[in-house]
Amino acid sequence: MIRVLLLVVFLFVSAVQAQGRVYVLLWFDTEDYIEPSSDDAALRLATDLRQLGVKSTFKVVGEKARMLEKRGRKDVIEALRWHEIGYHTNFHSVPPAPAVYLRTMDYLTGADEFMRREQAGLKDVSRIFGVKPSCYGQPGSSWAPQTNSALRRMGIPMYLDEGSHVGAGHQPFWFGGLFYVFDMGPYVMRASLDQDDFEASCKKFDQAAADLSAKGGGVISIYYHPCEFATTEFWDGVNFSHGADPAPAEWKRPHVRTKEDSERCHQILNRYVKHALANPAVRFVTASQLMALYQPQLPGSKVDRRMVADQMAGRQTFLVVNKTSLSAAEMLLLLLEMEPRLVEGPVSEGKTTYDGDSIDRRRFDKAKTDAIAFINGYGRLPAAVWLGSETLSLEDFAATLAADTGNGPVVVRKGKAEFRDSVSKDPEKTFGWVIHPKGFRAPELLELARLQAWTLKPAVLK
Ligand SMILES: [Zn+2]
Repeated sequence: MIRVLLLVVFLFVSAVQAQGRVYVLLWFDTEDYIEPSSDDAALRLATDLRQLGVKSTFKVVGEKARMLEKRGRKDVIEALRWHEIGYHTNFHSVPPAPAVYLRTMDYLTGADEFMRREQAGLKDVSRIFGVKPSCYGQPGSSWAPQTNSALRRMGIPMYLDEGSHVGAGHQPFWFGGLFYVFDMGPYVMRASLDQDDFEASCKKFDQAAADLSAKGGGVISIYYHPCEFATTEFWDGVNFSHGADPAPAEWKRPHVRTKEDSERCHQILNRYVKHALANPAVRFVTASQLMALYQPQLPGSKVDRRMVADQMAGRQTFLVVNKTSLSAAEMLLLLLEMEPRLVEGPVSEGKTTYDGDSIDRRRFDKAKTDAIAFINGYGRLPAAVWLGSETLSLEDFAATLAADTGNGPVVVRKGKAEFRDSVSKDPEKTFGWVIHPKGFRAPELLELARLQAWTLKPAVLK
């Protein structure tokens, strides 16, 4: 009898595994420091979800954490702590927003500036909640690539938000050394609190879950803001629209929901979560739990060099094979016979000035040695490599290196940097947000992101 039972359990478990688990990441941008009833909404959400046995991720704004402390809301702090804490900037919508000031800066200066502005907020959230935030996400659509570099230095390994600036197949990916849950496309969803779409939302969830399960597993991203359950308009929209910067004494309180209306909103989320829980393939996870379910960022050493060379000689972009994924940067390191390590992309666009069809081997070897020294020295890729006083752009160098037979003169090959296609070409829509100044666009940030996309690759479930 026990044997039969074990067999049944085994078959069930195998069936679910073959189908693939669906991991649901439920997260809350906890940011409204103006309207106090948003504090109660956060408490209620954290308490309800705990009763359902569901751990979620609360990305907290520095000023919100300080306000909770000031208002003596130990109850809210404790309730959120049972879940997981992320970081959501120090002041959120008080100008300048991250994309607004980072647009004017290069990669390295911007990373330093983001750290200068954000370290105090991160410190406060860490102190008030007694934990190091596991992830970061930008306010609104105020995304910028320089934050990757800064966040790694600030000890935050994961980027959790939604946007369309950069992505990889609407599932988690690695970018700039961080684990990204972003641009989730059809896999980002929610049941609306104000439109009557509950049944349709459940159907949409089931469809996405079935779809991911059939593909062997994947992630659904669901997000809300605690303030949505307390107010009918956003706390920042009524104060900081289009770059406005009123004095704190002038801050207006957003319109508050009635008690009954707020209760109705909480019931919608509770029913939606219960609906998801009823699906046997679904597991709710926090940001850090999700990251641990994925293969570590650095590839192992058992990568077939031939396959990498074939890919890189033709086109430079990530490669996913046998449960391993490799970024163009990682493949370049492999071709240079370097150990796998974290690197950043180039900080500027390199050009090819060398106009010969082939390169003397001694000169090419010297260029290789120099490239290795640059990468080891700075922890990032060079924009170009030197051949005497002439240059090869990094993609031309990568293609040439990959195609090199090792005999005779080195034949020059043109690169094809396809990894750039992972970054949006729309500098306006991607940065659309009511808090940004009117007509705000940031092509410079997308350009920097395209350079950093050397490091981009899909994340692979273990
Ligand atoms: Zn936000």
